[in-house]
Amino acid sequence: MRRPVLAVTCLLVLAGCGSPAAGTARPASTPPATTSPTAITTTDVAPPTPPPANSTPPDAKPQPVVVLDPGHNGANAANPGAINKLVPAGRGRMKPCNTTGTATNAGYPEHAFTWDVAVRVRDLLAAQGVRVVLTRPDDNGVGPCVDQRAAVGNQSGANAVVSIHADGSTNASAHGFHVAYSAPPLNEAQGEPSLRLASTMRDTLSSNGFATSTYIGSAGLSPRDDLGGLNLSERPMVLVECGNMRNATEAAAFASPDGRQGYAAAIAAGILAYLS
Ligand code: ZN
Repeated sequence: MRRPVLAVTCLLVLAGCGSPAAGTARPASTPPATTSPTAITTTDVAPPTPPPANSTPPDAKPQPVVVLDPGHNGANAANPGAINKLVPAGRGRMKPCNTTGTATNAGYPEHAFTWDVAVRVRDLLAAQGVRVVLTRPDDNGVGPCVDQRAAVGNQSGANAVVSIHADGSTNASAHGFHVAYSAPPLNEAQGEPSLRLASTMRDTLSSNGFATSTYIGSAGLSPRDDLGGLNLSERPMVLVECGNMRNATEAAAFASPDGRQGYAAAIAAGILAYLS
């Protein structure tokens, strides 16, 4: 009975990887105390001023905003108490704040891979005029929790949110990327926009030479109802699993700067294709 054992293993690995959750519990922020408003008398009210002649024309396109979510974080493994704390994960479920992620057999960790690829994608998008927001500032911290990562995308009003991961199937022959999206959708953004972002990302990764997953989803797409970051998103969002870190060929690409640049270029192109 080899298959059931493998299936259970893959499920466990998936649970550990695909859930972008986050780290340190932070106290709820309290709004700063406001000063009492100053009374304005009618003599203080200035007459309305006309807009300057060189103001932005009404047909100018607003600058697109993209949130990149590099999976996991460098100090997650050393802080199990923080990352195992349960947080809301959508659909009425609670899940651990975040997980450690996986690694290649040689020990190159997923959090380092996702951080490096996200920085490369950020630079490529910024060069095209996109404003990019990352869900974590470096690869040395804990978390943030999945719900906090989703909040970054929601509060930024992002045109697209892309979470970047790599998988850790113990089946060494399993390989290829897949793009996960929330299904069934919980809001309008998780419907057509997220599905279009997923299919555009899948098509662009394929046209950049990356093979679709041999072991998860169908034709490179994977509808999911169990990933907190996707469930809680109110913006178009996908999660890209770039491949299997336990597959020797893909592990070599993940561990190489040139390989990571290739993934970054394809992901950036997918985002730009979606935005266009
Ligand atoms: Zn992951």
